Amino acid sequence: MAKSLPDPDEQSDDYRRYADLALRHILDAVLVTDLDNNVVWVNSGFERMFGHRLDNIRGQAARGLLDGPDTDPSARDHVLRAIKGRETLTVDILHYTATGEQVWVDKTLTPIFDEAGTHTHHMSINRDITERRRMEEKTREVMANEEQRQHERKLLSQVSEWLYSAKSLDELLMVVQKSMHTLMPESEGQLYIYSNSRDTLDLKTAWGEGTAHEHIDAEDCWALRRGRAYAYGTRAIEFPCAHTETADTPYFCLPIIAHGETIGLMHVAFAAYDRAIMSRKMVETFLQQRWDLSLLCAEQISLAVANVQLRQELLDQSVRDPLTSLWNRRWFLDAAHKEINRAERQGSALSLISLDVDHFKAFNDHHGHDAGDIVLREVGALMREVFTPPLAPCRLGGEEFVVLCPGLGHDAAMDLADRFRVALSELDLAYGDGKLPRITASAGVTSFPDCGAHVEDMLKHADRALYRAKDRGRNCVVSALPEDRQIAAQ
Ligand code: GH3
Ligand code: MG
Ligand code: MG
Repeated sequence: MAKSLPDPDEQSDDYRRYADLALRHILDAVLVTDLDNNVVWVNSGFERMFGHRLDNIRGQAARGLLDGPDTDPSARDHVLRAIKGRETLTVDILHYTATGEQVWVDKTLTPIFDEAGTHTHHMSINRDITERRRMEEKTREVMANEEQRQHERKLLSQVSEWLYSAKSLDELLMVVQKSMHTLMPESEGQLYIYSNSRDTLDLKTAWGEGTAHEHIDAEDCWALRRGRAYAYGTRAIEFPCAHTETADTPYFCLPIIAHGETIGLMHVAFAAYDRAIMSRKMVETFLQQRWDLSLLCAEQISLAVANVQLRQELLDQSVRDPLTSLWNRRWFLDAAHKEINRAERQGSALSLISLDVDHFKAFNDHHGHDAGDIVLREVGALMREVFTPPLAPCRLGGEEFVVLCPGLGHDAAMDLADRFRVALSELDLAYGDGKLPRITASAGVTSFPDCGAHVEDMLKHADRALYRAKDRGRNCVVSALPEDRQIAAQ
């Protein structure tokens, strides 16, 4: 495709002067190359933009002169193909200055023909669009980030809904495991909760590939020692927690706080994400975003744990006796009803021990109500020690107790009741600086089906045996079963 020749008046001296002035002053970089693609001429805009002086590059191959490691190979191929095909081309391409700085240009490539229409040269006009590209990239980045944030916010609100619906700690832990994995797929982590003794934390749930400790010592964690969330892998001076495996993996330790008290720790580590392909800046941005999200998660989990604890406490208050922490009458009636049904259905064993402290009124009168309360608490503690789950010791009121014994036959229940009687009679009771006199209890034992099929009948049956024990002189266990099946354990 031949270009039309300049009009005759374009050959005038004025025209040449103006054209020369324009080329000298425009900011665009103009490069003229011959058919072998060697540099013939550049304008001063080119010298300013790329830092190459015409004197130094004249006659040099133009190919590769402006390219660098991040120049898109397909854009470069486009340019080369256009040169070969004598085509006009406009393309955005990344170039490099003589000192290695990046310059994004909008390049227009045109073949040049002489007056006879013969193709003689190529000319490229390069407009610096670095700033525009930077803005576009930034906008793209901001939009991508915003999209990601929105996605996370949506997930997080779903997660908090699930967290709040959790009725028990077990349910909550299941939600934590699943949702942390979904929210931060590139992370691995664990949730630890303080043990009852509060000297160690026990692993409750984990997600991802990382190795989890069964227990960690609070002293080994900077977050727990300093009482606030700790990020490792983001600062020049920092020390890894003793409970972590390697010093190369960035991680966060986030205390879990319920009702103002630290009750656990969430550990979130980033061993798996591909840092090799990320610049330092990208790593920083990535960790900052993860930090923000982790803090939000820890906060939501903290609130949810507090919520579950509150639920549990309320539930406990309605079914536990506050003095001894044993199950109360309400719980007993409900549980006994269910166990009788089960024993009936499955033909399984079920016994009931009715228990009453001997001469407790006199004890109260002599030593005071406070001492009486201590005795009841100790009786409760001993009952929990002797009658372990599925056996369920309960306080019905005053100094009267029952033990619901699913799966326990009559003889075994008699034996166990007697073991308790002996243990109680040997119990030393401290009170203030001194000791209280030893106490004893009497018990009546009944078993399904001899006791009838109603809770009230069963209780009456066991109580009748208890009265007989009192009649026999107290500190003994009596069976409620007919004479021929009785084993008096005294
Ligand atoms: P027995 O050997 O026949 O069972 O004699 P007892 O004195 O233990 O029997 P009784 O049922 O007549 O007395 C129960 C006493 O228990 C009455 C009350 O002084 C005391 N008591 C009941 N509830 C509590 C309590 O919550 N705390 C304390 N300290 N004493 C209680
Ligand atoms: Mg009594
Ligand atoms: Mg009584």
